[in-house]
Amino acid sequence: MRILVNERGAERLLSRHLWVFARDVVSGPEAPGLFPVYWGRRLLALALYNPQSALRVRAFRFRPAEDPEKALLENLQRAVSRRLGALGREPEGGFRLAHAEGDFLPGLVVDYYAGHAVVQATAYAWEALLPQVAEILKPYVKSVLARNDAKAREMEGLPLYVRPLWGEVPERVTVKEGRVRYLVDLKGGQKTGAFLDQRENRTLMESLRGERALDVFSYAGGFALHLALGFKEVVAVDSSGEALAWAQENARMNGLAIQTVEANAFDYLRALEKAGERFDLVVLDPPAFAKGKKDLERAYRAYKEVNLRAIRLLKEGGVLATASCSHYLTEPLFYGMLAEAAKDTHRVLRVLERRGQPFDHPVLLNHPETHYLKFALLEVL
Ligand code: SAH
Repeated sequence: MRILVNERGAERLLSRHLWVFARDVVSGPEAPGLFPVYWGRRLLALALYNPQSALRVRAFRFRPAEDPEKALLENLQRAVSRRLGALGREPEGGFRLAHAEGDFLPGLVVDYYAGHAVVQATAYAWEALLPQVAEILKPYVKSVLARNDAKAREMEGLPLYVRPLWGEVPERVTVKEGRVRYLVDLKGGQKTGAFLDQRENRTLMESLRGERALDVFSYAGGFALHLALGFKEVVAVDSSGEALAWAQENARMNGLAIQTVEANAFDYLRALEKAGERFDLVVLDPPAFAKGKKDLERAYRAYKEVNLRAIRLLKEGGVLATASCSHYLTEPLFYGMLAEAAKDTHRVLRVLERRGQPFDHPVLLNHPETHYLKFALLEVL
């Protein structure tokens, strides 16, 4: 059984992009699984295949292999091995063990939270392989949870559920990050429990000092906790009251004080501006406003609006730490948006740092979708 692609599909795989969409697939098996991809008689790749999905072919290897399943699972073993140095240095930390396409593991994410693994599969062919995935993870963790409740699974025709694959999964885990610790709700938290991609950008905050800091889109106090080490007053804003309750619990656990405000960020920023409030630092870590290409224009305006409002709240010499996790808002668009916000507010933005994803969220230059996180540290003059 094999998958046959047309010339356009072949061009994508030959350029080492991992995806071929339905329109470029000439024929394929009736059921989902792992299959070789051919262009005529030429083998191009081994791929995860789902005849029900518009994203039909997701390559995981560009060379032949006798046993595709074994080859795919070897990619997982390799991905885990690449993290072992970091895990050894910080076993109580949080790391991504498998970053989907970025690790040649399309549709599979595995996050590590202080000795507990959370797996999320969003490509059909993984479903039958979850016992083997757990088997590979066992030597490194005390439990493995399947957090298979991501919306993306519906588009693949997969059911939504959360269940342990192995071991005793605790209700909550304490994760160490830089000089703070935070609680993770493995079964119920957003994503797989936390936003590990901002780990190094959050710990960067520990080197900053000042009077007042504002953490907008704070979730469970992600940036706020680190800021509370160096700022006298820290305000964390989120629309989720539940997340903010965790933020307060996190602050208590660290012996730190933060204020939490449950509000829509757009409204709250406007209210602060009206009240003439000023800050030494503002963090903006919004959710992906652009989930697809078609939302880009509206999303661009939303990103610009929050950044404009944050800039207006900053004192002369204050710092804006601003992020976007939407792949569609590319790096040039992100910095272009910030430049427009700078011009419109008549403030100068000096780049202190341009950052992105940490090592455990690898980017493949051939597959631009793997690059999504932008993070800028800017001095506002
Ligand atoms: N900075 C966090 C992660 C933020 S994720 C960390 O480092 O851990 C984005 C957050 O934005 C989520 O917690 C979500 O609840 C919140 N959110 C989404 N839309 C919002 C809105 N309009 N106003 C305020 N918060 C919002």
